[in-house]
Formats: sequence, structure tokens, C-alpha cells
Amino acid sequence: MENLFLKKLIQILPEERIKLKEPMANHTSLHIGGEADYLALPVSTEEVCAVISLCKQEKMPYYIMGNGSNLLVSDLGYRGLILKLGEDFSNIQVSGDGTVRAQAGVLLSKLASVVADHSLTGFEFASGIPGTLGGAVTMNAGAYGGEMKHCLTAAKVLDEEGNILVLKAEELKLGYRHSILQEKGYVLLEADMQFTYGNPEEIRQKMRELNAQRREKQPLDKYSAGSTFKRPQGYFAGKLISDAGLRGYQVGGAAVSEKHCGFIINKENATAGEFLAVTRDVIRIVEEKYGVRLEPEVKFLGEF
Ligand SMILES: Cc1cc2nc3c(=O)[nH]c(=O)nc-3n(C[C@H](O)[C@H](O)[C@H](O)COP(=O)(O)OP(=O)(O)OC[C@H]3O[C@@H](n4cnc5c(N)ncnc54)[C@H](O)[C@@H]3O)c2cc1C
Repeated sequence: MENLFLKKLIQILPEERIKLKEPMANHTSLHIGGEADYLALPVSTEEVCAVISLCKQEKMPYYIMGNGSNLLVSDLGYRGLILKLGEDFSNIQVSGDGTVRAQAGVLLSKLASVVADHSLTGFEFASGIPGTLGGAVTMNAGAYGGEMKHCLTAAKVLDEEGNILVLKAEELKLGYRHSILQEKGYVLLEADMQFTYGNPEEIRQKMRELNAQRREKQPLDKYSAGSTFKRPQGYFAGKLISDAGLRGYQVGGAAVSEKHCGFIINKENATAGEFLAVTRDVIRIVEEKYGVRLEPEVKFLGEF
């Protein structure tokens, strides 16, 4: 049978930037996830808008992803189209006054390096977060006392009706791992950030120190999606999980990291179902023992 949706999609994107039945395990830091019906790799705002508009017209479910570093995709995959905003959508412009404009698909490590190359300080915290700018703005990513909120000045987004809006930082409702993008289903296209001039050697040194701290504390040699849970107010998720006796707790191939209990890892060929089982058991046992309900930070995509 002729695939009319695909025929229309090929009019927007060249075939080499459309993948069919694409295993999402190849696109997530957990290395877990079944096939997405379609994976599209747009390179421009026009393409992003056109693909989304086509999905709406054809009632094709769609989802936006960046680097997949905060994402658990179902073993059944995703029935619909995933738009991956990655390295083909990652232009960076640096101005003399310390303002930086970048497209959503740029990796934070790359952006932090470019910012440092221009002797600008204020983005060192982000250099070890393995996501894109799009994911970081959406999640208000943060680490070591820094967060996107501190440097963002504006964001260009696509709303549900297909309008492009430019929102000022104060309109983004940036809170702990939260932004208006999650509330309204906005797509981040590009963001403006403001930094100040600093000493290039000190900037690089700080980045090295923070990344060394990460390597020491986090299971970076294992597949994960970072901290599985948000930090509950007044507690640390990792400590609660450790105190509950769950260090190393395992279901199938998924396990609570021995090194950092806040991370659930794909230890050996874990399925999404096994990852979810560990997540649910951890939530239940911590709540029974301490009356604190942990909330996942990781996003779940597809049917579970
Ligand atoms: C080893 C490791 C360490 C980590 N350390 C940290 C840390 O220190 N601090 C921290 O905050 N996080 C951390 N994370 C989690 C993760 O890297 C961040 O949440 C990151 O911001 C996610 O970006 P991404 O591009 O991978 O997003 P994805 O995982 O692809 O998507 C995450 C969410 O953002 C949405 N999204 C992505 N791009 C867009 C866009 N352009 N427009 C609209 N929505 C979009 C997706 O729909 C999804 O809801 C870590 C993860 C790992 C694996």
C-alpha cells in the first residue's frame, strides 16, 4: 500500500534525513527503546515547522527530542514521528557584548567550549551535561549551582498553533527542572544567553574541575539518563534510596547504580520495562520507609 504520509514528508525533507522503523536504543543515552515509525532530522526552522504542520494535518502523533539523555523510550517504540533536533540544527553566534544565540540542537558541551573560547564565563556548569540546548531549556537543566535560568535571556519557540514566538526569560517560567515549554508543548528553536568576560584559563580550569567531580561521583561508564528522580524538597533522592537499602537493587538488566543511587542504569541489556520496574519499586519502597514520594525527572515516551 502506498504511504501517503511518507510521500508528503519526502517533499519537506530529503530521504537521507528520514529514518523508518528506527531503533530508539540508538538515540538515547540509556540505549533502550523500540522502533519509532519515523525519525526526522530537520536542519532549519522552516523544516521543523513544515514537518510539524504536516503531522498535524495528517493526524500523525509527533514528539520532539534532543540528544535523548533524559528519555526512556518504551520497548514497543513510538507510533508516530520523532523530530530529532541535533547537530544539523546547531548554529552558534557569539557577539562582542557577550550575548550568544544558538539553535536548539547544539550540544551543551560544544556550546560551553565555544563560550569558553570567547573568554566568556557563566556556562561552565553546563559543560558536562550530555544534552542539547533544546532539552536544557525545556528542563531548565542545572548542575553545581548553575542553571539555564541564570544565563537565558530569550527563547524563540514554536507554539501548538504553528506560530513562532519570542519569549523573554521571565516569561519562560523557569523553575526546578521546569519551564513553560513543558506546560504548553512549545518547541525550542533557538535561545539567547548572556555571559560576562572572564579569564580563559580560569574558565577552562573550572570546567575541568566540575567534570572531574562528575567522573568521581557519577556512573559515567554506564548507560543512564542521569538522575532518575527530581530532588525532593529537603532531601536528596540518592541518599533516600541508599538509606532504604536499595543500592544495586536490580530487576533484569536495570539496576540502581552502586556508585550513585540517584541513577538507575542499564547494566546489561535492560528493557524499558525493567527500567520502569526498578523505578516503581524505588518509589514505593522509599515512600513506605520515609513517607517521601520521589518523582521521576526522566521523561517516558511511548506505551508502558
Ligand atoms: C550522565 C548524565 C548526566 C546528567 N547530568 C545532568 C545534570 O547535571 N543536570 C541536568 O539538569 N541534567 C542532567 N542530565 C539529564 C539530561 O542531560 C538533561 O535533562 C538534558 O537537558 C536533556 O537534554 P536532551 O537534549 O538530551 O533532551 P532529551 O532527553 O532528548 O529530551 C528531554 C525533554 O526535553 C524535550 N525537548 C528536547 N529538545 C526540545 C526542544 N528543542 N523543544 C522542546 N522540547 C524539547 C523532550 O521532548 C523531552 O521532554 C544528565 C544525563 C546523563 C545521561
